[in-house]
Amino acid sequence: MTELVLGSVDGLGSYAGKYAALTMEIPWSLVKDRIGGTPASVTMVTGLENEYLDQLVDQLPSVDTVFGVGGGVAIDAAKYVAWKRQCPLILVPTIVSVDAYVSPEIAVRYNGVVKYVAKLNPDKIIIDYKAIQSAPKNLNTAGAGDIYSITTALFDWKLAHEKTGESYDERIAAEAQKARDRLVANADEIKNVTEKGIRVLVELHKEENRLQTLAGKSRPEEGSEHTFFYTIEHLTRRSFVHGQSVATGVFISSHYQRNDEDKVAHAMDSMGLVFRPREYGVSREEFIETLLSMKSYSEKATLPYSILDLVEITRADAETFWKKLSA
Ligand SMILES: [Zn+2]
Repeated sequence: MTELVLGSVDGLGSYAGKYAALTMEIPWSLVKDRIGGTPASVTMVTGLENEYLDQLVDQLPSVDTVFGVGGGVAIDAAKYVAWKRQCPLILVPTIVSVDAYVSPEIAVRYNGVVKYVAKLNPDKIIIDYKAIQSAPKNLNTAGAGDIYSITTALFDWKLAHEKTGESYDERIAAEAQKARDRLVANADEIKNVTEKGIRVLVELHKEENRLQTLAGKSRPEEGSEHTFFYTIEHLTRRSFVHGQSVATGVFISSHYQRNDEDKVAHAMDSMGLVFRPREYGVSREEFIETLLSMKSYSEKATLPYSILDLVEITRADAETFWKKLSA
């Protein structure tokens, strides 16, 4: 069982024995004077390619504990090293924009392609409010994207059940809905990245992970809104903040699901969740191209059945979306 510590990282290194810290410059600077103990090594992680990670495993001194301090990349690298070295893992996410810290999956890249090589649960997750609050607010509120995505994901899951007979669990869906509602009910705290807002995000990331494990698939939080994210990264060969581009997808899918997209936009604004593509560096051409390619991408990547299987996204639609999202 993973122990969740809400508060601060202060002094925790003193109890960790000989430890290796896998981190990056900024996150390390936020905790290094407070974490305590003396790390046997501090590694600034530069990527998640398998060859690079194996080199890290070989070069590290022998340690009792591995700390992963930072965002998704440092966290994933630490998971891999702790798994290979078979030693306890302590994660200190210094930003809550992605939920890698609650997921047991270890994601490694082979020639740029993500593969999940193993599962490992950390022994401890330490939420250091001070470090998290020092990051740009928008990056933390992006952590709401993968929870708010429940809105459109549940619709797609049920639709798939009705149209294709895919297994569907009403109880899990109801619990996911409850998680989503709790998120929206705490919009203000999340927007302001208060301690309570951070706690809600962390607890909901955990809850969502539990529901996915229970369902045996990502359906409770992943549907056609994620297709927007996959398609835009594939098309532009750039990477975006996951929760923000997923949030754009929620807006688009809501429209086709006949859910009120203006209400959805209002809810996302109230959480400070950035979803207008211009605000995260997407051009009009890229956006329109992405929308026109979503269906074919979904087919090529054999993504699960969704509302995209029932609609045609026209250029006129795409232009209307862009106008609405740029207003
Ligand atoms: Zn996601």
